[in-house]
Amino acid sequence: MKKSQFVIIGLGRFGSSLAKELVELGYEVLGVDKDEEAVQDLSQVLTHAVVAEATDEDVLRSIGVRNFDCGVVAIGDDIQASILTTILLKDLGVKKVVAKAMTELHGRVLEKIGVDRVVYPERDMGIRVAHQLVSPNLLDYIELSKDYTIAELTVPKCLNGKSLQELNPRGRFGCSIVAINKPQGVIIAPVATEVLAEKDVMVIIGTNEGIEQFEDTIIR
Ligand code: ATP
Repeated sequence: MKKSQFVIIGLGRFGSSLAKELVELGYEVLGVDKDEEAVQDLSQVLTHAVVAEATDEDVLRSIGVRNFDCGVVAIGDDIQASILTTILLKDLGVKKVVAKAMTELHGRVLEKIGVDRVVYPERDMGIRVAHQLVSPNLLDYIELSKDYTIAELTVPKCLNGKSLQELNPRGRFGCSIVAINKPQGVIIAPVATEVLAEKDVMVIIGTNEGIEQFEDTIIR
């Protein structure tokens, strides 16, 4: 299957980090920025990098943005440029357009003009770091909905040798441990007799409340 190709517009801190990671993951990336220095800095790393004004329709057409599967508008400060570029990418037929928003209002405008996904890197990273600071065992989490989360937690010393049966997270907190990452490999859908060891990583799914109670009662 052909791998997706990405065009990243705006090579600031967010755009350049995203572009470099996509290349690292083996994808083709065209980077676009109006600032020559920003383009120069990434010209050796990205598949292609061009200096261009992204609010100019003819320019976007000439660099062939419509051939890309996904376009990311990583322009932050200049909200007008962010909105114009997003509309142009949609109009030119880029299949999926993702745009970075600086504020909720900026994000709402982007949604109204039909962006496929709005990202708020600063806001989301702030929230993520706050969660990790208050739960030291939390490695990562995904919010499935407003009420449900999947969390990745390191197994602390106090749980070493305990089986899932003994912990009974489902009966006590309505949460299920859906995977355990051990040095020997990942156990998917572990059985009740599975035993945890310190530093294993468990993946738990449940309500936000249930996971919080699990952490407060069992881990601390
Ligand atoms: P970051 O936080 O990711 O560093 P930022 O939110 O401060 O970025 P900006 O500095 O506004 O966002 O823009 C990011 C990049 O987008 C910059 O390198 C800038 O040159 C580029 N850029 C801004 N407007 C345009 C435009 N109209 N056409 C092309 N590139 C643009």
